[in-house]
Amino acid sequence: MRNCSVCNHEAIYRRHYSGESLCRRCFIESIEKRARRTISRFKMFRPDDHIALALSGGKDSVSLLQVLSTIEEDFPGSTLSAILIDEGIEGYRGEAIAIAEENCERLNVPLHVYSFKTIYGRSLDEVAEASKDRGSLSVCSYCGVLRRKALNVAAKAVKASKLALAHNLDDEVQSMVLSLLRGDLANLVGVKPVLEKVEGFVQRVKPFCEILEREIAFFAYVKDVRFQSIPCPYLESSMRSDVRRFVNVLEGKHAGITYGIAGSLRKIQGRLKGVDVRGELRQCQTCGEPSSGKVCRACQVLEELGLD
Ligand code: SF4
Ligand SMILES: [Zn+2]
Ligand SMILES: [Zn+2]
Repeated sequence: MRNCSVCNHEAIYRRHYSGESLCRRCFIESIEKRARRTISRFKMFRPDDHIALALSGGKDSVSLLQVLSTIEEDFPGSTLSAILIDEGIEGYRGEAIAIAEENCERLNVPLHVYSFKTIYGRSLDEVAEASKDRGSLSVCSYCGVLRRKALNVAAKAVKASKLALAHNLDDEVQSMVLSLLRGDLANLVGVKPVLEKVEGFVQRVKPFCEILEREIAFFAYVKDVRFQSIPCPYLESSMRSDVRRFVNVLEGKHAGITYGIAGSLRKIQGRLKGVDVRGELRQCQTCGEPSSGKVCRACQVLEELGLD
């Protein structure tokens, strides 16, 4: 490995897409700088925001906690807290909660844990059981719908003005490619660094959306932060994992192509301005959360499974 392209110390990371070699300190700084640049480029925060970070205990959200707690020091009027949604997955979430607690304590960030059980009266394990007989979707799809609403409920409960998600560049590209493959233009338009401000939703922002997943993983490693590494027992092969593999293979052969794909898809998004993303929102007649139909998706799936 060559010396660091910035300070000439011994390099530990080679950034293939830019040709730079970086030492530990310059690599960490480059990640923090990129997150700061994304935050300011997309005007993600105001100096007096209460930012709730969706913390799962995985490498991305633990790294974002680390970065946001550093940035927050420059904004004394802002508040940072973390929200963890405990889906109720036996033998999996317990470890994540312990890791989240440890990281939040170390960085002095208050942690709020909300569970599917308290919000919906059911754990994901119970949803998974019910879906064996009556389900039309994968457990991950049910989890995604329920988690999305749970995060909004929790962010409102802690009075957050922004909800920070740790989606990285790979996640963004996968979501856009999937929408394209499915011909779902409304979804394609909806994949953005800052989601629209919508009544009843805490606005979602993604400070890591311009950073490659592998660089966030390396950031967590060099910062020596503890994160959950065991996979969720419900994680299954899906079209998303196929897209992930495909983009990874391309990135391995053509460094930087993930940025290229993201750029091309953002251009397509620009041409689709005016596509109706979600129609008019109203209140779900069952739970009162914002919904495009009479009943929100979360209430619909619980009804479908006989768990309402
Ligand atoms: S892998 Fe699937 S079921 Fe497990 S936490 Fe993630 S979305 Fe939920
Ligand atoms: Zn250096
Ligand atoms: Zn509802």
